[in-house]
Amino acid sequence: MPVEADLNRVEHELGDVEHALTRLDAGTYGTCEVCGSPIDDEILRAAPAARCCADHG
Ligand SMILES: [Zn+2]
Repeated sequence: MPVEADLNRVEHELGDVEHALTRLDAGTYGTCEVCGSPIDDEILRAAPAARCCADHG
């Protein structure tokens, strides 16, 4: 895999983590950005930066 693709992926993941940290500060971490309901613990464990619940992911 070209290094550029790898870097792009890491940059994308970093953006997700930063977004999650912003939501943590705002007190909205762990809730779906679409419907506002709590995201399942299972989903958050698998993807800590998840933005949406199972219905909207
Ligand atoms: Zn949802």
